[in-house]
Amino acid sequence: MSAPPLRSARIDLAALRSNVRALAARAPGAQVMAVVKADAYGHGLVPCGRAAREGGASWLGVALLQEALLLRQSGDTGRLLAWLYGPGEPLLEAAVAADVDLNVSATWALDEVRAAASRAGRPARLHLKIDTGLSRNGAPQADWAALVAAALDAERAGDVRVVGVWTHLAYADVPDHPTVDAQLERFRAAAAVAEEAGAQLEVRHAANSAATLTRPDAAFDLVRPGIAVYGISPVPDLGGPEAYGLRPVMRLSARLALVKRIPAGSGVSYGHEYVTSTETTVGLVPLGYADGIPRHAGGRGPVLAAGEVRPVAGRVCMDQFVLDLGDAAASAGDEVVLFGPGDDGEPSAEDWAVAAGTIAYEVVTRLGPRVERTWV
Ligand code: PLP
Repeated sequence: MSAPPLRSARIDLAALRSNVRALAARAPGAQVMAVVKADAYGHGLVPCGRAAREGGASWLGVALLQEALLLRQSGDTGRLLAWLYGPGEPLLEAAVAADVDLNVSATWALDEVRAAASRAGRPARLHLKIDTGLSRNGAPQADWAALVAAALDAERAGDVRVVGVWTHLAYADVPDHPTVDAQLERFRAAAAVAEEAGAQLEVRHAANSAATLTRPDAAFDLVRPGIAVYGISPVPDLGGPEAYGLRPVMRLSARLALVKRIPAGSGVSYGHEYVTSTETTVGLVPLGYADGIPRHAGGRGPVLAAGEVRPVAGRVCMDQFVLDLGDAAASAGDEVVLFGPGDDGEPSAEDWAVAAGTIAYEVVTRLGPRVERTWV
């Protein structure tokens, strides 16, 4: 009999499917693009992409062309958008050939996609992105009309199809922030410019998870939730996942690699930032910052162990950290849970984010390849 994994991330695909359905219910009339970039936020690109489709996502969204091609290699044939590449991107032709929709934010990108489409022997499907106020990807408003005109020229030449216009919000997690209204107003105007110039748009899209859940007026034809698909609230200040009918998908656990008694006054881990006040039992958790456990959570990161939530004792090391278990009856091999849906009183990924001074997105996406994923 083989031993259970030393470190394990259990991914609940039924929860993921149900989260996609809950998000779709928030945006009636709009399609859902489940964002599965960054290995589905650490949850596994291919199984999560498949589960998202089963939950009703008619689109998948990724950042990189490599990610899109991995989905195609896995057999995914649905609508798929990839949005991040640079000049000279070697995978453009393969992406067009694989029927991957592509973002275009500038005329150099349009030129490169046209050339790739002509090599691939089929028109590329484009989503033109407008920067309505995030100042990240997307054409500046001053360049929008010219980009639209150039893309429609390319469409008339048979090189591309302009199927979408889109943008991304800067303050979606503060739903009543005036910047959200301003960006949506600019986006509506930009879409009108494209349509008046003759674009036959299939989709206009702007909403990430937070906007999908809180701003029905941002749904347009398609919503693009990422973090909420994985059951993590994008606006923790307004409520946990249960407030939105979402269930956390990942449960991260490990088995204690060693348990021992140490005397009062023992310094624990590098720099002895934690010193035991009495004789106590310590447990060695075989997960560290090389696995994505935030080093900044040293002394704070909460772990369910022996029926109680206990903080990391001292610094998180590369492969391991220590828990002070007091007088709990614990043995090597016992399971401890860092975060999960909360069924057994375990903390959430959001609790870890708070402990580490970051956001839950970073907690789950940083989980490294040494952590064994199991999809159930
Ligand atoms: N759309 C784009 C362009 C993104 O970059 C992201 C993620 O950062 C998303 C949608 C999904 O965002 P969220 O995970 O906040 O729902």
